[in-house]
Amino acid sequence: MTDIRDTFAKVYGRAPEGVWSAPGRVNLIGEHTDYNNGYVLPFAIDRRTWAAVARREDRDIHLRSTFADGEVVASLDALDPAVMEGWSAYVLGVAWAAADAGVTMDGAFGLDILIDSDVPVGAGLSSSAALECAAGAAFNDLWGWELDKIALARLGRVAENKAVGAPTGLLDQAASMLGEADHVVFLDCLTEEARPVPLHLPHEGLGILVMNSNVDHEHATGGYGERFASCALGAKELGVASLREVDRDGLERGLEVLDAETLRRVRHIVTENERVLQTVDTLAAHGPRAIGNLLNESQASMRDDFEITVPEIDLACDTAVSAGAIGARMTGGGFGGSSIALVPLEQADAIADAVRDALARAGMREPTIFTVTPSQGARRDS
Ligand code: ADP
Ligand code: MG
Repeated sequence: MTDIRDTFAKVYGRAPEGVWSAPGRVNLIGEHTDYNNGYVLPFAIDRRTWAAVARREDRDIHLRSTFADGEVVASLDALDPAVMEGWSAYVLGVAWAAADAGVTMDGAFGLDILIDSDVPVGAGLSSSAALECAAGAAFNDLWGWELDKIALARLGRVAENKAVGAPTGLLDQAASMLGEADHVVFLDCLTEEARPVPLHLPHEGLGILVMNSNVDHEHATGGYGERFASCALGAKELGVASLREVDRDGLERGLEVLDAETLRRVRHIVTENERVLQTVDTLAAHGPRAIGNLLNESQASMRDDFEITVPEIDLACDTAVSAGAIGARMTGGGFGGSSIALVPLEQADAIADAVRDALARAGMREPTIFTVTPSQGARRDS
């Protein structure tokens, strides 16, 4: 942030008109429930993606990122998600999604855009949503869309689904748009109603460790898509529009009609939705020290039923809890990426050391461990 205006000036030869930013996110609980019309409970983190932007005389978008070499140029009059490639699809996809949703682009002018970020890429912290939401916030202000935050989040999701081709739900973008300091965002993915829920972490002397396994994940293809398909199959066989509608009784029926693997996938979604609702209630009634078991049960469900964890993640979570964490679970799409541990702040370093030691002894890749602070969502910075 400190020098994005300088970098912009070097690259484009003039000052930016403004700087917008949006954060990455951590999901406290509620994994893979989003595209099943269920509940999620993410928060925005203190790692952000910035977009420095200035208007142009024509209708071209010039796009650069400190993350990649070169410049991408696209005309506002020829935005086509089918031909958007690479990282620019996350940004151009938002403009296309707005036009496709009927937001008028008639008066829109071209833009010079420079992206910078300190959200680690591909770590399960949703650098992709941070990018979409930073772009969306800038477009909204500059082009006068006057959309609210949840509408902008939706455009980010459409960009990710249609322009990038990753079949993800609204979780990441909702957190990045709607996050608040020391709050989680409770999102009902069916109604798309969202509300902030206080965490009171500093008050309780607690913090959240992110433990990045540094094992790569892959969203657009592979396991994420397979889980998406399993859930769709489970819903079809159970005769419901989405797994949101399945309760404990529905699970009983699943024993008869579903194959063993699909049953496990469905059971994760059903129990995970319950855990999200219980976490919201528990936070309100007893505070964050009381949610440890829910985090641990979520981790076990992702490991045993949904089968989206990797050994590095399982060991990190188990070790963190043994070393004094209140609870720990994988966060994000899975197949690598990061886990989180809710920890007493005075034990954070010791817990991180214990996790590093355990993974080293197991011959696993060294994790990157850092604390995150629940922070404000997308905004204009200057
Ligand atoms: P995650 O969202 O977990 O970090 P994804 O695979 O969903 O992982 O998104 C990562 C992709 O998003 C990158 O490969 C890149 O295409 C794009 N991206 C993220 N941050 C930036 C950035 N600062 N500049 C350019 N592209 C970015
Ligand atoms: Mg992503």
